[in-house]
Amino acid sequence: MGCINMAKQRILVCPICGETQQETSVCKVCSSSLDADGLLHAEGSIGPWWARDQQSPFSPGMTYDHIAELARRGDIERHTILRGPTTRQLWKVARRVPGIAHILGRCHNCGEHVDPHARACDACNVPFLTFRDRNNFGVDVTVPSEGKFDGMSSFLSDTSILDTQSTPLTLPTRSEESKHAVEEGIGSPQFHALQRKLRQGGRTIKMLSIALTICFIALVFVVLALINR
Ligand SMILES: [Zn+2]
Ligand SMILES: [Zn+2]
Repeated sequence: MGCINMAKQRILVCPICGETQQETSVCKVCSSSLDADGLLHAEGSIGPWWARDQQSPFSPGMTYDHIAELARRGDIERHTILRGPTTRQLWKVARRVPGIAHILGRCHNCGEHVDPHARACDACNVPFLTFRDRNNFGVDVTVPSEGKFDGMSSFLSDTSILDTQSTPLTLPTRSEESKHAVEEGIGSPQFHALQRKLRQGGRTIKMLSIALTICFIALVFVVLALINR
């Protein structure tokens, strides 16, 4: 009994939003799933882009694909305050942010109305690029990682995976499809290696406990045999 009560009183810090709370499998503040799968998924959607949000000021940044999807869906609008690699992490209104503004129908450079799918501004010729480097915050060099035109990547886009958010900076709910995609799509090779290692670790523990159980049963038999002699 005491044991169970002790377990219930354990306090954890949500790795995603930092909220301190009683041990739980789902964060009471950011609704992140806190099991191993959920955390790997959350880690996979972390990136160098932020939308200013007073409701969840402690959330990690998100990937370019995530913030672009929020813009497409209207969760981010022209006047939303953003920062990212193309703003050198300084807050800026979304309609002026390279990589995002054109999705909202404005040229970041000259302010002209543009087609969200255009590859460049008809008025000033500035290219509309995507910035998918998750590890470059755009602060250690004068420019962010080289942008690319949309649709050139051979990798699965995060957009198709992270299509379930309703508000900025909440993590996506996970469907079977996204689970599959997480296993194959998002994340660096190191990330996948870690994922594999975690799985292997689980397997090793399972094998060890089976071996231990067999040893214990054998011991019981030996003891019984000795007693019956
Ligand atoms: Zn949380
Ligand atoms: Zn322009």
